[in-house]
Amino acid sequence: MRTLDTANFSDKKVLIRVDFNVPIDENNRVTDHTRIKAAKPTVDKVLADGGSCVLMTHLGRPKGVDDNLSLRHIVLEIQTVLGVDIQFSKQTIGPEVEAQAKALQPGQIMLLENLRFYDEETKGDEQFANALSTLADCYINDAFGTAHRAHASTTIVAQFFPKAKYFGYLLAQEIHAIDRVMSTGEKPVLAVLGGAKVSSKITIIENILDKVDHLIIGGGMSFTFAKAMGGQIGNSICEDDKQELALSILITAKEKGVQIHLPTDVVAGDRFSNEANQQIFPIDHIPDGWEGMDAGPESVVAFREVVLQSKTILWNGPLGVFEFSQFSQGTIALGEAISASTRKGAFSLVGGGDSVAAVKQFNMENEVSYVSTGGGAMLESLEGKTLPGIAAIMA
Ligand code: AMP
Repeated sequence: MRTLDTANFSDKKVLIRVDFNVPIDENNRVTDHTRIKAAKPTVDKVLADGGSCVLMTHLGRPKGVDDNLSLRHIVLEIQTVLGVDIQFSKQTIGPEVEAQAKALQPGQIMLLENLRFYDEETKGDEQFANALSTLADCYINDAFGTAHRAHASTTIVAQFFPKAKYFGYLLAQEIHAIDRVMSTGEKPVLAVLGGAKVSSKITIIENILDKVDHLIIGGGMSFTFAKAMGGQIGNSICEDDKQELALSILITAKEKGVQIHLPTDVVAGDRFSNEANQQIFPIDHIPDGWEGMDAGPESVVAFREVVLQSKTILWNGPLGVFEFSQFSQGTIALGEAISASTRKGAFSLVGGGDSVAAVKQFNMENEVSYVSTGGGAMLESLEGKTLPGIAAIMA
């Protein structure tokens, strides 16, 4: 792996693709700095070597130039988090940017305007990538969140640095975390997959059955399995057309020696609301008019036992409708069990969208080994795909 520790950036200008696609409120204030903080080690390394940084990122999904999504609004916050002055470039490419980059001195940082003000970025345009490449001597990709996109700044630009392209520390860390779950981790390996739908997780399930010893299937997904096995699931969400698939997953798991754990009981509500009346039912005996919205107490105890026995744990997707406080107990209990297992020495990776939101909401971010910064990129990695941004550095 071309990691930063093998490189020295003394007197080099380094083009760094970061992922500062952060959430911002109506006053253009950053509401979560995680992604900015995550880029700091890479920036610090380049500066400590005596190099300079040209940072580039996208923010939101602008259609052409959109002042609301200009990075100028968040420069000061980036500066505060990184702890270094930043020169903002009002353009992304062009002669003015080139002149500004040329004048950059060791120890200095400049930030380009939002890459997605240009259609060429998402189209993976070679000329646009070439224009970006002229700004620096080396290229570092540290944007895991967009590593699954073959965009100009994440993938195409790498070809202009055949001997000077590197994985940033964050990207390397993410790759390492996925690797630990998918191939090198200590056994027993457990994956907990929750969330709403079987259909959105099916490729992950299929890929992961070759890697894990235990698989907990929770959340809305579990009702498709329960119904396929002949259960009565009331008004719980279910994908009827995925019942056969659910049964075939159970058979494949058995063939591969993977133990599947489904909830045995659920906390149901009489409507989809935090104010719903609650009742606990066996997962296969939910009366009509009730829908399963969280893992029940018996399931929580059983899941905790599996989690505590595991040495490597992947968690993707909540065990219930955790956005409703009444139905968040199963997800919280799972997070607590994973935290306890981590304290005992297990490696735990939380990745892919809503489970990350859950650990943040319940303040468990520092209790697990690694929280991924990438949603789609993490899901595609778990599906077994090689991400274009990663392949471009390896090429
Ligand atoms: P995903 O993006 O597939 O990981 O799904 C996350 C969403 O699944 C969250 O918004 C949860 O509220 C939802 N979810 C989890 N369990 C259930 C359930 N039993 N019924 C309905 N939605 C659920």
